[in-house]
Amino acid sequence: MTDRLSAIRACFDEWQVDALLLISPANRRWVSGFTGSAAQLLISRQRAVLATDSRYWERAAAEAPTFEVFQMRDEKDAMANFLATAGVQRIGVEAAHVTLARQAALDKHEGFTWVPLPATVEALRAVKSAGELAAIRAAARLTDAAVAQVPRLARPGVTERAVAWELEKFMRESGAEDVAFDIIVASGPHSALPHHHPGERVLQAGDIVIVDLGAQVDGYKSDLTRTFYLGESPEDAFWSIYNTVAQAHGAAIGGIRPGVTGKDVDALARDLITAAGHGDHFGHGTGHGVGLEIHEEPRFSKLAEKTIIPAGAVMTVEPGIYLPGYGGVRIEDLLHVTADGSEYLSAAPKTPLIAV
Ligand code: ZN
Ligand code: ZN
Repeated sequence: MTDRLSAIRACFDEWQVDALLLISPANRRWVSGFTGSAAQLLISRQRAVLATDSRYWERAAAEAPTFEVFQMRDEKDAMANFLATAGVQRIGVEAAHVTLARQAALDKHEGFTWVPLPATVEALRAVKSAGELAAIRAAARLTDAAVAQVPRLARPGVTERAVAWELEKFMRESGAEDVAFDIIVASGPHSALPHHHPGERVLQAGDIVIVDLGAQVDGYKSDLTRTFYLGESPEDAFWSIYNTVAQAHGAAIGGIRPGVTGKDVDALARDLITAAGHGDHFGHGTGHGVGLEIHEEPRFSKLAEKTIIPAGAVMTVEPGIYLPGYGGVRIEDLLHVTADGSEYLSAAPKTPLIAV
């Protein structure tokens, strides 16, 4: 945590601030270790203060020993105390997380400049430590074990919601502290909806079934998608899009190494899908960072031309093709960017056919 504080302070010149206020839970946790739901972190070159209310005084002292814990009785208090004693002028704030109400409260403290920063510690969080990587690996192993249950669970006659619940139960009973996000089970025509919420649709023979799931271990998440077909002889249309997505997935992974841009890797998948005539059926990015948050920096996307992928990042690769009214295919793995390429953190096989 001391190293993380130093890394943040090393950005102050670039951000043109002499202190930073952090309120977003993932950023707070990353720099302090504090897991509670409410706190403000105030970091200057000399001091690191964690202000929280009485629900969390004890937990903050235990979890965040590198921070002075300020026992907040009301929000004004904490800020006034820090501002009065920290000798700072320009304070960076997380533009993506500060509400208008909070901005109005900050503006009441006169004589300070609040500097909205589009990103603060997100770029630092992209490179995972050994401890973070170990937690993600454990989450990925639980996810692999869960997806191996799909051929047993996804039977004609059961609902999407029932399959999602059994997968959640399996991961929690196997040691996950939580699911990484709401599990997606998208069957039949629903598989054409990339973020379908599982409902009462009953699975039937001949369905495509997309399962997208992840586990959480020590705050860190994993993310995996497999596409299945209920039956042994899918129509050519299924194989056509399945094989295109599989090729795009492999092409993108083959291009991952430190120093490439997020746009380069995205293009490796996207160009193949576009050449197959499905450019308009692949609306989302090719992948995203995963850590304390399920979607975090960096990204494999058309828009990521300035994003340099660093060694140590943990990324998904998840191209898809979605044909409205018919169905879709997505294949997603989790990868760790190494010095000269990448290594798989996911190990689930890609065998789509489920005999019914
Ligand atoms: Zn996913
Ligand atoms: Zn994902």
